[in-house]
Amino acid sequence: AKKAVLGPLVGAVDQGTSSTRFLVFNSKTAELLSHHQVELKQKFPKEGWVEQDPKEILQSVYECIERTCEKLSQLNIDISAIKAIGVSNQRETTVVWDKYTGEPLYNAVVWLDLRTQGTVETLSKRIPGNNNFVKSKTGLPLSTYFSAVKLHWILENVRKVKKAVEEERALFGTIDSWLIWSLTGGPNGGVHCTDVTNASRTMLFNIHSLEWDVELCEFFEIPMTILPNIRSSSEIYGLMKISHSLKAGALEGVPLSGCLGDQSAALVGQMCFQDGQAKNTYGTGCFLLCNTGQKCVFSDHGLLTTVAYKLGRDKPVCYALEGSVAIAGAVVRWLRDNLGILKSSEEIEKLANEVGTSYGCYFVPAFSGLYAPYWEPSARGIICGLTQFTNKQHIAFAALEAVCFQTREILDAMNKDCGIPLSHLQVDGGMTNNKILMQLQADILCIPVVKPSMPETTALGAAMAAGAAEGVGVWSLDPEDLSAVTMERFEPQINEEESEFRYATWKKAVQKSMGWATG
Ligand code: ADP
Repeated sequence: AKKAVLGPLVGAVDQGTSSTRFLVFNSKTAELLSHHQVELKQKFPKEGWVEQDPKEILQSVYECIERTCEKLSQLNIDISAIKAIGVSNQRETTVVWDKYTGEPLYNAVVWLDLRTQGTVETLSKRIPGNNNFVKSKTGLPLSTYFSAVKLHWILENVRKVKKAVEEERALFGTIDSWLIWSLTGGPNGGVHCTDVTNASRTMLFNIHSLEWDVELCEFFEIPMTILPNIRSSSEIYGLMKISHSLKAGALEGVPLSGCLGDQSAALVGQMCFQDGQAKNTYGTGCFLLCNTGQKCVFSDHGLLTTVAYKLGRDKPVCYALEGSVAIAGAVVRWLRDNLGILKSSEEIEKLANEVGTSYGCYFVPAFSGLYAPYWEPSARGIICGLTQFTNKQHIAFAALEAVCFQTREILDAMNKDCGIPLSHLQVDGGMTNNKILMQLQADILCIPVVKPSMPETTALGAAMAAGAAEGVGVWSLDPEDLSAVTMERFEPQINEEESEFRYATWKKAVQKSMGWATG
């Protein structure tokens, strides 16, 4: 059959906490042509521990690339039209591997993991000088969330890793580094790098100088030799080298030229390039990022300061204020996997719809402590306000409502820090397919919620960065080219008084979740 003629294509690996995807876009129209998704296992070996297998993650990437290429062939689209590939990834998750064998030396310690609660307590007593030492350099509070404490724990507790470091065989990376190193050849010439957005989540990176920080590395006792090289979010890092795979082998030699942590990628994919533009992504967790341009703004209300993107070696760095919520979609997965009251994540919409109210039931899913704006590692999940009337539908509804309340808390913090309240909320992520959730969110925020009709904004952002890189040049980041995005809108439908009452009750429930566990 005759192959369809298209402009240059760009691929994107979207490696999330819940699943891996590979997607291929037409660079001229930003149209999504084909994709494939594989759900990932998470391991919970002990209470509070969350791990993933780095090999399984890598295999899922190969599988997604392979299947997507097959689908493209079936659509008569020539795979050789793919001119660049970008990577976006779950952030902070920490991997250490052997540079000679390509084997991981330990499971990936996932961002949600709480094993370092004690480590954080010990380290916080050792902070040199003023208490602002870590925050002023990194924009982050000392927490179990970021890579440095996870890496500190691994180096202290995993003999195999300690030995590999002594023998100069060990490499550290977040998921982007692990994937780029593996996809560019692994032990045979793999490129060990990370981009500034991912680096800004390690807690070893100075967000002002854009370099690894010697003092932070000393403080966390991390040997700098195992750290990846820091690059911008849009430049050619290396060329694809995956000869062992069939169809995917056709991508051999394609430049890997875009890399952004998932939340930064979504900001780019939502075209939030102006100071003051913001998006909220509902995946495993929930992350509201507001672009602050070239200014590094520090929060007084529990938000993080992070690198938004740097789209080219010679381009300026842009920063963002971020409100991070640990558990959003993960609570739906928990209802499915741990309580078994759902067969699929999508089914929660049907359950919630059957009742249309939580009937006074409140669910604070503080499974990994509370992140923004509280940063309270001792919090644990609670379900309260139960009566004999309460059923699984009410609990399902309360779980969705919890996601909305948590977003309200970070939006309130954002409005206080930025001064100008957001007039509407731009959203994306796996959970935004849930219409009840979106309507509830508009009701609880009392502002419209706006969702692009193409929901894969994280992948789009990575593809844009890859396609726009110097030496690739198939994607224009000129905002005029990007205006034709169609949107779905959800308007608030309840009165503000009712919304405020429910929000106030939620806050009472949050107070009850605190202090349950100590390191
Ligand atoms: P991540 O990028 O963190 O891997 P995704 O954006 O892929 O996450 O979203 C997946 C998460 O969203 C899962 O936790 C899943 O339970 C949840 N989810 C997916 N579809 C729905 C739905 N229709 N309603 C509620 N939650 C959903």
